[in-house]
Amino acid sequence: MKKVVVVGAGWAGLGATHHLAKQGYDVTLLEAGSYPGGLVAGWKTEKGKSVEAGIHGFWYPYRNIFALINELNINPFTTWTRSSQYSPAGLEVESPIFQDLPRLPTPLGTFIYTQFQRLPLVDRLSALPLLYALIDFDNSDAAWRRYDYVTARELFKQFGVSARLYHESFEPMLLVGLFAPGEQCSAAATLGMLYYFILAHQPDFDVVWCRGTVGEQIFRPWVEKITQAGGKVLANKRVTELIIDGNQVKSVVCGDEVFDADAVVFSVGINAMKKIVANSKSLQTRSEFRNLKNLNSIDVLATRLWFDRKIHIPRPSNACFGFDKTTGWTFFDLNALHDEYKDEPGTVVEVDFYHANQFISLSDEEIIPIVQSYLTTCVPAFANAKVIDSSVIRLPQAVTHFSPGSYQNMLPARTSLNNLFMSGDWIITRHGSFSQEKAYVTGLEAANFVVNYLRKGANANILPVEADEAHIQFARTINNTVRGIGKSIIPDFWLP
Ligand SMILES: Cc1cc2nc3c(=O)[nH]c(=O)nc-3n(C[C@H](O)[C@H](O)[C@H](O)COP(=O)(O)OP(=O)(O)OC[C@H]3O[C@@H](n4cnc5c(N)ncnc54)[C@H](O)[C@@H]3O)c2cc1C
Repeated sequence: MKKVVVVGAGWAGLGATHHLAKQGYDVTLLEAGSYPGGLVAGWKTEKGKSVEAGIHGFWYPYRNIFALINELNINPFTTWTRSSQYSPAGLEVESPIFQDLPRLPTPLGTFIYTQFQRLPLVDRLSALPLLYALIDFDNSDAAWRRYDYVTARELFKQFGVSARLYHESFEPMLLVGLFAPGEQCSAAATLGMLYYFILAHQPDFDVVWCRGTVGEQIFRPWVEKITQAGGKVLANKRVTELIIDGNQVKSVVCGDEVFDADAVVFSVGINAMKKIVANSKSLQTRSEFRNLKNLNSIDVLATRLWFDRKIHIPRPSNACFGFDKTTGWTFFDLNALHDEYKDEPGTVVEVDFYHANQFISLSDEEIIPIVQSYLTTCVPAFANAKVIDSSVIRLPQAVTHFSPGSYQNMLPARTSLNNLFMSGDWIITRHGSFSQEKAYVTGLEAANFVVNYLRKGANANILPVEADEAHIQFARTINNTVRGIGKSIIPDFWLP
């Protein structure tokens, strides 16, 4: 039986392992941590309370993850929820459930149905010229190369977005969507992310949450299914090196253990991959892996607070901006979202900080009062409540940084080694998805490369993102034609 080793048990690694196990491969998934899940893992505190590395939303366009949930025959999600945005001035924006409202050609629904409390119409209208960039950025390799060297802030400035719209709408979206402020985000990733999550189709911003930790609700039953299909999921196995012969990986080294493989799938994050390369003499001989040193990841902080009394939180999920210049944060009413906390006498809130560099080294005793004071600004009733328990999870260098100029160093699924394939939310794919859905999709794509390479079994059926609406397709066709004509006259004179 052909042997495949998959490294890293997040969405990407589990996705690859599941498909390959179903195709009859002898698959071993090696995970450095003590349980699967990666950035989405959940576990219990010493007092038996559930915690996790941040709350994860599942947006309307996560078609492949929703298909997996059907395949697993599980029911992990809440219904579609509405969300709010707060600044230090109070409530700023409320989002409806977009799919419940009459569907308008994009982006009209997003502009008309989103309830801005303060932002003047003239600021909102200043977004209109940006539509050209959204049309021009079609997720092709050429489009990524055109926009990736530009920062999001420069892009918005160049297209005439007002300062207020930038600070009160676009930058908050970047801080929670790409985990970084505008001056640190690639304009290509920005356009891709905004289009995927918000602008491609009216319902795209609708979101559901797990009714408990993703680890318990999805990964536990998923790993059971993978094991039943013959896949081996091994925890506490940190991969350190590969044994390579010519252009073939022969084995994966994990401390003292060696796992032979006909094909290997890497499904680890950027930071972990950099560590593996730093340790691996064989990977360092190849520039594509050496160049990964140019990529970076971002610090995240996930806190969970138990309060002594019931506090009314108007919406279950909330994004906040303007509290710290370069940090975004979100808070979630877990009494409303998680079954476990429904009947809790007090309030349980999750508060996650993205691009949390300046918070990550604070002690729990220093962080918790900051969290409570921020919550109080949004929902004043938090002022008098007492924190009776808390959990602080520090995730240094945890999430992908789509920094300007990073695209040239990111890896596609295929590498210069014939039987080594890459997956994860930072791997180049033309699928168009982001975050968990992208990680899962790239895992399936890597599995398909293995299937084609080892010539056994069928490809995974990967659902494409929903097609562009007709007017967007039309505008993109015209734009590409004009661009093609321009290129045929002056091919490569200007910077892309
Ligand atoms: C606080 C927070 C909030 C987020 N919110 C959302 C959200 O709302 N919606 C959304 O879609 N996404 C969200 N994300 C992003 C999402 O978590 C990631 O996009 C996704 O989980 C990435 O999956 P992955 O499989 O690519 O990588 P990972 O989840 O990072 O998995 C990689 C795995 O590899 C393992 N590993 C590392 N090194 C080694 C080694 N040497 N040997 C063996 N194993 C190794 C790691 O332990 C890990 O289990 C959020 C992330 C965070 C941190």
